[in-house]
This record gives sequence, C-alpha cells and structure tokens, in this order.
Amino acid sequence: TIPILAMDGGGTNCRAVLCNTHGTILSFAKGGACNFHNIGLKKTKETLRAVIKQLIQPYQEHLYIQKGVIGLAGIDTTNALDMMFNLFKDIFTELDVTVGEIILNNDGWVTMMGTLGKKAGLLVISGTGSIVYGKNRKKQIARVGGWGHLLGDEGSGYFIGQTALRHCVRALDGREPHSAVTDVVLRHLHLSDLESLVTWTYSSDYSIDKVAALAKEVFALAAQGEAVAEYILDQAGQDLAEACDTAIQKLELDADPFEIVVAGGILQNEAYVLNKMLDALLPNHQRFTIRQLQNEPIHCAVLYGLYALDRYSLSL
Ligand code: BGC
Repeated sequence: TIPILAMDGGGTNCRAVLCNTHGTILSFAKGGACNFHNIGLKKTKETLRAVIKQLIQPYQEHLYIQKGVIGLAGIDTTNALDMMFNLFKDIFTELDVTVGEIILNNDGWVTMMGTLGKKAGLLVISGTGSIVYGKNRKKQIARVGGWGHLLGDEGSGYFIGQTALRHCVRALDGREPHSAVTDVVLRHLHLSDLESLVTWTYSSDYSIDKVAALAKEVFALAAQGEAVAEYILDQAGQDLAEACDTAIQKLELDADPFEIVVAGGILQNEAYVLNKMLDALLPNHQRFTIRQLQNEPIHCAVLYGLYALDRYSLSL
C-alpha cells in the first residue's frame, strides 16, 4: 500500500510523486504539457498515463494507493472535471492500480489548499496559463480567470507571448513601428521574416507552450528598457492585479490581514510583472503580505494528501 500519489499538471509540465505518511518521496516522474484544452484529450491521456506508468515502475506488483491528489490545468468546468475523472479511472485500471480516493481539481485549487493551509488569502499562478484562487476565513472559495488561452489567461506567459506575436504582425502592417521585440521573436523561433511567422503560427509546429516560452525574451528586453516589452509586461501585471482585486472583493479579504502567494515562471523567475502587479494592487489594498511559493506545486498536492489522510493538520 502506498499512502499518497500527488500530481500537478500545467500547460508545459507535469510532475508526480508517490510518498509515505511522512511526506517522504518514494518515487518521482515527470512529463510535458497536460492541459487538455490546449493539446486535446488523446495527447493529455498519453502524457498522464506515461507519467503514472513511470511513477509506479519501481513496483512490480498490483498497487493500492490510498489517496490520489491531482491538480490539473484545464479543469475549469464540472464537465471537464467529470471527463478527467473518468480518464484517470481508465488510466489506473489500465495500469493495474487501485486508488482509494481520487481528489481531483484545478491545479490552482490544489496548490492554494496546500500552501495556505488554514490561512485566508490568494494564490496567483502565472505560468503558461494564469489563474487566481482565494479563500477567506468563512472557508468560501473564489476563482478568477484561468479560462484558457482563447478566453482568458490574462497576465500569463501565453498572454505575453501572444501579445508579442501580435505586435510583430502589427509592425508588418505598419500599424506599429518595428521594434526589438520583432527581432527577438523571429530569432527565438528561428524564422527569417514576419511572413514566415504567420506560416509558423498556423502550422503544426505551433504550440501554446512555445508561445508562452517567448515571455522570457520579452523579460530580457524589458530589463534593457525596451518600450514595447515594458508595455506588454505592464499590461500583464495590471491584469493579474485586476484578477486579485476581484477575488479580494468577492471574498471580502480586506477585512483582516491575508496572504498572497505567487507561483509560476512569470511571477517567480523575474520580478518585473510581480512588481507591476503590486504597484497596481497597493493603492487599493494594504492588508496583505506577499510571498513566493517556496516549493513546487506538487509539494502542495502532497500536503493536501497528508491532510486527507489525517497526517497533517491543514484544518481547512
Ligand atoms: C487553465 C486553468 C489553469 C491555469 C493555470 C489556464 O490556462 O485554463 O485551468 O488553472 O491555466 O495553470
């Protein structure tokens, strides 16, 4: 018997661990993107199945796992939740694994529950996608944003990359002047001109995580004071602040001190967007402390698993 299987899957990476009741990791596996909105159900299942297969590989016999705590990007509706639940049930059956209880939810929910414990506050994720989750002392939960690359994900890596791409074609039109952003985007994608950028975008080579990966080029330019890059990142910071502001109001968090935890490459690898987000938040809200998520989101899934097993008093 294995006490906990914990898993965190986002728009670019997926990580999974098996651990014991002390939270000690017994096995670790990782894989690529697994948001089914972005890559389709078939590919998502293949990735998740391969990760779980790798995870249980050290165990030859039939495995019984007490709690499976899984946070997954793309679980944005009850329909998606049902679908992914069935998908996991199929995977576990195929791999001859029995899981006592599957706790499945959006990646932001699992990470928030694991990191905030009994505290009130917000979790802001900005990685490939973005989302804000919050909870208050009355245990009410609010979610803002995270509606995927077509409908939302404001302030995310994808949003930054896509805005950079749009700037490129606007420059091609002459609606905006050529800038250093155009040059780095072309160089990053190994393209010779703006026309081939259009070809790339509608080709099978295009992917959402590749667009999100452009964000690091935009950060590098903003660090040099390049105006278009700064403008794009300012917008990202403001959008994330707007999502936080909405969650704070919905949950009336300002009534007492609360925590804001930030997670994901856009908020943790560089300070620019985080600072802009804070600049936009501070005039309206002062009762929060801010911290970066110290451990990988998977760690939060483990904590939640320990809590579910009564081995940890998260007291939600
Ligand atoms: C997804 C959300 C997810 C967020 C952060 C968005 O693209 O739609 O489900 O929570 O990214 O990973």
